[in-house]
Amino acid sequence: MTKRVPLFINNKLVESDASQAIPVTNPATGEVLSEAPFTTSQEMEKAIADARTAFQTWKNVPVPERSRLMLRYQALLKEHHDELAEILSQETGKVFDDARGDVWRGIEVVEQAANIASQLMGESVENVAPNIDTVSYIQPLGVCAGITPFNFPAMIPLWMFPMAVACGNTFILKPSEQDPHTPIRLAELFREAGAPEGLLQVVHGGKEQVDTLLNHDDIKAVSFVGSVNVGQHVYRTATNNLKRAQCFAGAKNHMVVMPDASKEQVVNNIVGASVGAAGQRCMAISVVILVGEAREWLPDIKEALAAVRPGAWNDTDAAFGPLISPQARERVLSLIQQAKEEGAECLLDGSVCTVDGLPNGNWVGPTLFSGVTPDMTIYKEEVFGPVLCCMEIDNLDEALELVNNSPYGNGTSIFTDSGAVARRYRHEVEVGQVGINVPIPVPLPFFSFTGWKGSFYGDQHAYGKQAVRFYTETKTVTSRWFEGASTKASGPNMTINLK
Ligand code: NAD
Repeated sequence: MTKRVPLFINNKLVESDASQAIPVTNPATGEVLSEAPFTTSQEMEKAIADARTAFQTWKNVPVPERSRLMLRYQALLKEHHDELAEILSQETGKVFDDARGDVWRGIEVVEQAANIASQLMGESVENVAPNIDTVSYIQPLGVCAGITPFNFPAMIPLWMFPMAVACGNTFILKPSEQDPHTPIRLAELFREAGAPEGLLQVVHGGKEQVDTLLNHDDIKAVSFVGSVNVGQHVYRTATNNLKRAQCFAGAKNHMVVMPDASKEQVVNNIVGASVGAAGQRCMAISVVILVGEAREWLPDIKEALAAVRPGAWNDTDAAFGPLISPQARERVLSLIQQAKEEGAECLLDGSVCTVDGLPNGNWVGPTLFSGVTPDMTIYKEEVFGPVLCCMEIDNLDEALELVNNSPYGNGTSIFTDSGAVARRYRHEVEVGQVGINVPIPVPLPFFSFTGWKGSFYGDQHAYGKQAVRFYTETKTVTSRWFEGASTKASGPNMTINLK
């Protein structure tokens, strides 16, 4: 019998009573690792109710104690870094270095959460009127929920619950049903760090379980990361139910290459940025725009891409792993086919790709198209595979117009040697995260992850100061004390002077 991934409720691993479950497979071998249950409505209710009870105590735990929990958690995550990366590799297919990076970027957010006290400082003004002072306090919301995608099963849960919990909330995590083992291990380590019962609950499932969270009165805020269609549904439902929501969605990221850039740097950087992690990154570069004479570098880009190949998680020569599922692979292959039919020139075709000894993996090799135009499906759709589209244009104005016309706005980069060109691009581009000679500009957690347009629905972004605002309320107190009242009100026979 296939083993079931447990729920994590009140610090215990619990076998779900669910009659339905979905197989969790190793994408490199096709082997079924376990099955993720569709958490029953009773189990969902219990997870939420107990998180609400836990909140009543946790919100009063002194802030330095909350920080210390995060310090212990950070140390444990580092201690278990390789173990977590190995679990993650098995269920995502990521190569080991990539899997370690996934965990590491989550650890960095925990470090930021450990520094919560200074981020929870309110504001104060003395004498807003004669003898009247105003102070603001930052208080938690209650039970918050997080719904996470398959592509970063360590980093993205860690974007969410450490900051929410450090702010004084409790948290329900619904990770991707495609790779739930890593989040469960993260939860176990949180318990080992000393998290009290009910602080973090992990439930599994799909649309029904997500909708339960979105419609539940006790859930105060919802963080979501995933595809555009689901993100829009989550944002609309959560806000319609008067909840706070932040929804990080799909992307299409452009790299603009100016002819004065270093060709060597461009070619070296484009490979990892486009096909690294099999292109299954929301900040992957999926379009390279070669401006003017930079179009002559296309053969070098092709050669560099042709030199890398996918492979098993522990194959140190492999540049990336398989796609997450056979369905994801079929989708990418059909987009490649469509691009050919729509007139893009396929310079490198990864559609037929095998890896020795792993005949059942969801392999797609590096794929490169040139002559791509904005009306082609391969340009309009988020491919989420190791496919790079190349567009050739004449100047920076055209590059800006193209990028700003994209409905997405997660990330972009420009490679140039000119400060003036770089400044203009970063100022005028309508994208939330910009790299200058940096291909994938993911901000560290003391900043926030600031996607724009169709890549993000909401107001406050993930981690950094914006996460603190997202997971808290501000209470503003204006006070006045009357002279003499305290002396009359002190002592064992206290009388209150109401004059
Ligand atoms: P997905 O939308 O299929 O799933 C995300 C989560 O939503 C999962 O937990 C899933 O169980 C749940 N879900 C799926 N269908 C649902 C439905 N109909 N109703 C409610 N919940 C539902 O996304 P995915 O394939 O796991 O992840 C890949 C996507 O995530 C890509 O589009 C990628 O760009 C995006 N992503 C975005 C960011 C960002 O920061 N913008 C980061 C990582 C991934």
